[in-house]
Amino acid sequence: MRVRLILFLATLVGAGRAQTTTPVITPGSIVNAASYLINLAPGALATLYGSQLADGTPTIQTANGFPATAGGVTVSVNNVNAPLTYVSPTQINFQVPWETPVETPVPVVVTRDQIPSAAVTITLAAAEAPAMFLNDYTNGIAWVTGAQCAQTECAIQTGETYTLWANGLGPKNAPLQDGMPAVYSGSLTPLEVPGSPASCQLTIGGQTATVQYCGAAPGEIIDQVNFVYPSGVSIAFNIAGIDAALTIGSVTGNFRVPAPAAPDALAEQTLALLTQDEKLQLVEGAGGPVTNIIPLPKGAGGYIPGIPRLGIPNLYFNDGSVGVANDSQAPSTALPSAIASAASWDTNLAYSYGQVIGAEMKAWGMNVNLGGNVNLNREPRDGRTFEAKGEDPILAGKINAAHVKAIQDQQVVGCIKHYALNDQETGRTTANAIIDERAARETDLLAFEISMRDSNVQSVMCSYNLLNGTYACENSHLLDDILKGDWSFPGFVMSDWWATHSTVAAANAGLDQEQPDNQYFSGLESAIQSGQVAQSRLDNMVERILRALYATGAINSTGAVMPINTAADQAIAQQVEEQGAVLLKNAGNQLPLNPASITSIALIGSHADIGVLSGGGSAQVYPTGGAALNEGYPAVPGWAPVIWDPSSPMQAIQAMAPNAKVQFNSGSSASAAATLAASSTVAIVFVSQWTSEGMDMPSLNFTDVIHTTPIDQDGLVNAVAAANPHTIVVMENGGAQVMPWLSNVSAVLEAWFPGQRGGQAIANILFGAVNPSGKLPVTFPASVNDLPHPTIAAPDPPSSSAPFPVNYSEGLLVGYKWYDANNITPVFPFGFGLSYTTFSIANAALTNNLPAANPNFQITCDVTNTGTVAGAEVVQVYLGMPANLGEPPRRLVGWQKVALQPGAKQHVTIEVDENDSSHPMSWWNPTPGAWQVAPGTYTVYVGTSEAMADLTVAGTIQAGN
Ligand code: BGC
Repeated sequence: MRVRLILFLATLVGAGRAQTTTPVITPGSIVNAASYLINLAPGALATLYGSQLADGTPTIQTANGFPATAGGVTVSVNNVNAPLTYVSPTQINFQVPWETPVETPVPVVVTRDQIPSAAVTITLAAAEAPAMFLNDYTNGIAWVTGAQCAQTECAIQTGETYTLWANGLGPKNAPLQDGMPAVYSGSLTPLEVPGSPASCQLTIGGQTATVQYCGAAPGEIIDQVNFVYPSGVSIAFNIAGIDAALTIGSVTGNFRVPAPAAPDALAEQTLALLTQDEKLQLVEGAGGPVTNIIPLPKGAGGYIPGIPRLGIPNLYFNDGSVGVANDSQAPSTALPSAIASAASWDTNLAYSYGQVIGAEMKAWGMNVNLGGNVNLNREPRDGRTFEAKGEDPILAGKINAAHVKAIQDQQVVGCIKHYALNDQETGRTTANAIIDERAARETDLLAFEISMRDSNVQSVMCSYNLLNGTYACENSHLLDDILKGDWSFPGFVMSDWWATHSTVAAANAGLDQEQPDNQYFSGLESAIQSGQVAQSRLDNMVERILRALYATGAINSTGAVMPINTAADQAIAQQVEEQGAVLLKNAGNQLPLNPASITSIALIGSHADIGVLSGGGSAQVYPTGGAALNEGYPAVPGWAPVIWDPSSPMQAIQAMAPNAKVQFNSGSSASAAATLAASSTVAIVFVSQWTSEGMDMPSLNFTDVIHTTPIDQDGLVNAVAAANPHTIVVMENGGAQVMPWLSNVSAVLEAWFPGQRGGQAIANILFGAVNPSGKLPVTFPASVNDLPHPTIAAPDPPSSSAPFPVNYSEGLLVGYKWYDANNITPVFPFGFGLSYTTFSIANAALTNNLPAANPNFQITCDVTNTGTVAGAEVVQVYLGMPANLGEPPRRLVGWQKVALQPGAKQHVTIEVDENDSSHPMSWWNPTPGAWQVAPGTYTVYVGTSEAMADLTVAGTIQAGN
């Protein structure tokens, strides 16, 4: 600081020696020394110019504070002598005494050898204090130093600590006029503003900065504010300064500080400082059998050591689609399955869901989340449907984007995966998904496109499978043309674990990081030397990784472990389950149960006495507090243990019906279960379908894959239903199922994998403390024979490692679109879900703003709760495209979840914007390869599911000629 101050002062020093003894102040020449732009205020450093001000340039001794006299010269302001910092014949620098009154003219007099100058008046401005030194004296932007900003110009980074240089932070201790507090005794001990740092409130771009120190700069008359640059300040590409304010007591100084640099600039700046070895380090996974350093630190799934000299942290990659998935090293909140979050149709709640994951990742010191599974539910038997978000690209994309955005808002790099068309687990590493460009763009790829654009996700995981003959992780059409080209993805592509198949082809196709090891990317260096991979490609990989860290703030992660907020996070887990469980059947208003009329409850199956089921594989969360039951590996070969989460449905049900006798039967004997049911007022059967990464379901029936002697769950339900007409089925599973017993039971609740507060949530719904409002994000067909592919494509023979075709011949017709196009009536349509109340949707109308600059249309309608309890309805808007386009009969384009008290009515407006990331009105025209709104008639439907029976036509829109 001294260096700069002296340099600054030197520029202001005029030449010449005093010839006479009467000093002269040049009128109007008394200015703020920090900047010509800032007004003077008490405590400000000031400069005055004149002539005959002093004999020479005396040395100012500051050992005991700044002196009021130097070389026989004093400066008085309103008759109080000011501390002097520099004296010369033509210029004097001094501090305006703290006690100088503001907003009233006061005289300034220089006295030289007892001869006073004529007085020159100044008027101090209260509002200007404190005043900041400026970046280049005249641009109005405060001078900031700190993290890699030793001098004036640097790329400001949120989360880093910086210093502002100021004067006039406020009087410290008496005596006020010496510029240094009385306690100053020549040491360089900093002297803070009383109450600092709490009494110094700094905001930048409206965000509160954490002030670490606020007071005198050691050994200086000037002051400094050390602060952490807050996140959330909009990154300005061309704006040099951003508004800031420092308030001390009742006085606020307004100024500007440098805007945070765009992540691109920071990445570019850091890239330039990296050695070739460091660059290679960042693109090669450091775990796995090749480098053989597993288990990885923190039990992470992937690891890349950081580069401490440049502040690049260790990268810990951890799974987390349904909660932080780590082994016992990082037990975390087991949220309900991601498909339950989709079933809530509530993007705000989905954001809360992602927040739990992001906050807990951060708390465990992890900084790259591997969740964000948005593979479309094309194949309902896929073992990973519970991690993903259903069959509709718009619903899935929007819910996924909310999860990922929330994760990144916790300064954790988010991810979307598995890119792309990784829609079945059977033969996933050799499956060759075959699909045409238009179908891919409008279905699976659209879910990725929405997720990416809406969340600003910074990493994408390419998948195991091939797409149209080329492995996804070396598929330049997927990675370069579409993701980085058409969608302008700025982040990095990492391989799924061991999904890399080459060095040169993968690098040149757009893979930026191999995971979890460096089997292929260890060859990058020689590939660069031999010219097969350009140095610029490696630089680009690294720049993308760095950019991800800067864009999210993960660059500031320390790996430190902090406590997780278990109570708050579990409350969200419960809320998501309560909003996402779907009531599928409720004959004779069997539900909600009335504890007053129930004397006994038979609780049957699926360990409902102790816990709830979770999905397996890399998304498996090890719940806080420990599993209710770890059953170990399933009987049907699978590569993950079967974990039952805590929260006993039995306990929660007993709490809701304290006077009822609640008894449990395991369900392993249907007749024993039926006997218990026969003697109970109601029977609640919990059926479950364990699914996992690494396997698909053999059928859509509830199939016990866990036990060596499987429980026949369909038979169990039928036996219980035959014994008790009040049989309720609660389903714990990851996607669509068939229910051969459906007509025999009175109520069915789809609870998905309910998460570790599922027991309470299920009980709350069964007893009406919560009114169910979930809606299916997948279609429930009557039979596997109704699926586009009744048999899952598989390698032949099963042991073959040769690629085999998975022909997605249904193309655009994913999920409900298949059933609609083929006039197949499913058991439960997409978007369906019952409530304990009833709703009406009336007065549907349409406003067409297509010709507007921002083309859109709006659907309005009145939604009324026509029943007797509060509840929520999801108003859904579907669009029928012009007939000649060959599109499915209708597609979801918008929705709104409306909560209403009994009798209440709400006028709802749902706007569908063509410029939205979901391209709601467009089709992908392969020639020329663009989204286009085709001319023709569009029919707009509004209702409560995608089935025609639940929809009304709101109107039609004519586009084009
Ligand atoms: C899965 C990914 C997961 C990765 C790391 C792979 O087997 O397909 O979803 O992120 O492992 O655990």
